[in-house]
Amino acid sequence: MSNRRCPDCNEPLTRISLVDQQGQGRTSVGLAFTVDQEPRTSAWSGKLKNQAGTVHGWLCEACNRVLLYAE
Ligand SMILES: [Zn+2]
Repeated sequence: MSNRRCPDCNEPLTRISLVDQQGQGRTSVGLAFTVDQEPRTSAWSGKLKNQAGTVHGWLCEACNRVLLYAE
């Protein structure tokens, strides 16, 4: 629970985990974002070098709308 509410029906939103169906539900999908150009990854570690934050999913259980927020 949080104080976030659905913009359509004003019900409270529930935090959800985004899951890769092709991983048979074992792998949670970690979404990240960049605010400038292309994602740049480290050749050494493969990690994203210009990550500005992560993206998390929230569900309105009343209307099934899913919203994504940067955190
Ligand atoms: Zn809703």
